[in-house]
Amino acid sequence: MQSFLYEGLPARVLFGPGRRAELRAEIDRLGVKRALVLCTEDQRQFGELGAELLGDAAAGVHDGAVMHTPMETVDEARRLARELDADGYVAIGGGTTIGLGKGIAIETERPVIAVPTTYAGSEMTPIQGFTEGGVKSTKIDMRMLPRTVIYDPELTLTLPPSYSGPSGMNAIAHAVEALYAENANPIVSLIAEEGIRALGQGLPKVCRKPDDLEGRGLCLYGSWLCGVALGSVGMALHHKLCHVLGGSFDLPHAPTHTVVLPHAAAYNTRAASEAMGRVARALESVDAAEGLYDLAVAIDAPVSLREIGMREEDLARAVELAVQNPYYNPREITEQGIRALLDDAYHGRRPSGQSANSLQEEAL
Ligand code: NAD
Repeated sequence: MQSFLYEGLPARVLFGPGRRAELRAEIDRLGVKRALVLCTEDQRQFGELGAELLGDAAAGVHDGAVMHTPMETVDEARRLARELDADGYVAIGGGTTIGLGKGIAIETERPVIAVPTTYAGSEMTPIQGFTEGGVKSTKIDMRMLPRTVIYDPELTLTLPPSYSGPSGMNAIAHAVEALYAENANPIVSLIAEEGIRALGQGLPKVCRKPDDLEGRGLCLYGSWLCGVALGSVGMALHHKLCHVLGGSFDLPHAPTHTVVLPHAAAYNTRAASEAMGRVARALESVDAAEGLYDLAVAIDAPVSLREIGMREEDLARAVELAVQNPYYNPREITEQGIRALLDDAYHGRRPSGQSANSLQEEAL
């Protein structure tokens, strides 16, 4: 019998089309009198919507959320919140906006309500990366966990297939690694498998027909569950590789996850056979890595590092960085193995337990 630790993250979730209308009631419930609404400049309309829903409980709209959460933007938002006498925050947008909300919450200890409009899943985790002087560091603090999350699939209808696909694959990556995490447990694994199943069914629907509300609901439900998986257990090789590729070679976040995931899964297939069996089952595929790759192709998402801006001459440096600082992974991290993995990912080869590179590596 397996022995394990399960620690649940507190969450209050309102889920369903139109539930955004309950934002004001949720603010009242938390005792917030004046909430500052956060968004990005690009998605200012979400900020305006939040303010409209809050009515006289809106302290203002701040569209200063920026990717990678630079500390200057957090400081600026905190200053504005003090000026406006805000006693709570509404982060309405994708992972970038929710990151800013977390940055404010960690210092002010005032509640944040998240209204996610992508599939990143950040609203379900007490984790956040902040950049200062060009260096990104990660903090884990329960004060950053939003107190209420409102998932309204109607707010995701405008997310174009080119974002929906990679954003959903990014969410699936959290669940795949949760299934073979060092501290994996049966409860989080149930959540992770269900998250992959929902996104595996929903993503093809919304990428084919962005206004498919049923599909949007499936994807948002799946991203919620995958976010819980990310917030509950540790990650491994896949997240390390994406951190290296995004941080050192400036590759876009969600597309990098999309490209690397099938290859990280292939790398771990034999060492984490039970977890990979669950991924395959969730995707209704015979093999996890193949199923992930085929899903990316089906939703017209990128499948090679080359097409998302990686330069072939940088691969060697990426390998070097990826094998530095030992970290947990179900299969031993070897330079040879990572080189083969990144070469497959660079060229966008369809992975398989029998791929030329993996066989070659085994022969060595
Ligand atoms: P994002 O918030 O930058 O949004 C991606 C793009 O989608 C942006 O161009 C945005 O304007 C657009 N967009 C958002 N919602 C839209 C909608 N409904 N319709 C049309 N366009 C819309 O990024 P993201 O992909 O949501 O999240 C990625 C970021 O979140 C990364 O910085 C990542 O590090 C972070 N993240 C953090 C965690 C965590 O636990 N801390 C988890 C996952 C991701």
